[in-house]
Amino acid sequence: MVSIISRSAWGARPPRSRSTTTWSRRVEVTVHYSQGPTTQTPRQIQDYHMDSNGWADIGYNFLVDNQGNAYEGRGWLVIGAHAAPRNTEGIGVCFIGRDGDATSAAKRTIRALYDDANHRAGRTLAQKGHRDINPTSCPGDDLYAWVKSGMPVDGEPPPDTPPWPGVYLRYPPITRHSSVTTWQSRMRYRGWRITVDGAYGPKSKNVCVQFQREKRLLVDGIVGPQTWRATWEAPITP
Ligand SMILES: [Zn+2]
Repeated sequence: MVSIISRSAWGARPPRSRSTTTWSRRVEVTVHYSQGPTTQTPRQIQDYHMDSNGWADIGYNFLVDNQGNAYEGRGWLVIGAHAAPRNTEGIGVCFIGRDGDATSAAKRTIRALYDDANHRAGRTLAQKGHRDINPTSCPGDDLYAWVKSGMPVDGEPPPDTPPWPGVYLRYPPITRHSSVTTWQSRMRYRGWRITVDGAYGPKSKNVCVQFQREKRLLVDGIVGPQTWRATWEAPITP
């Protein structure tokens, strides 16, 4: 359960109006970034949304800062203003900061909010970045790759859908498989400079070789079972 800083605790203004939805209509969690400094407060964001945008309240359902604190925005079931036309379907969670600012503490809290939402909905909600819905760079390349790789957190076991038996990620030839996206996203999350494009080509192989050297694994540039497992080993310092 995530500990959430209530509206009264962060000095929220009352909403001008509000409309609610139900858990049965919630189908996704949509991650955003504020694209401002990490020192921005929820109240500053609320003032901007209400006074400059003319909205009824802060647009997001929740906000998370880079210390990992969660703040109540509109809350679980009030319809937000963050990713029209999917505000009824989606719970908007905003990271306070710019691309690359999200710490592992922030990601852990976003993931915890997502897990909490699934628990409350009684089913698995989709994981989305704002750019899945509208033409925007939000929530930035780093958070987006993290969201699309399943919002991994430190010390978690690897996903139970590895590429084997039968498929290793190798080059040549270029491997194209959904697990390539998963592996690239995870490597990016670990701090490696790697493009998440779902194609295991020469650049992915190069990152793999460096990773295998660092982990003192057999250095062959092929993501087999051992390298795959090592990719999910703690500690991770993004
Ligand atoms: Zn956004």
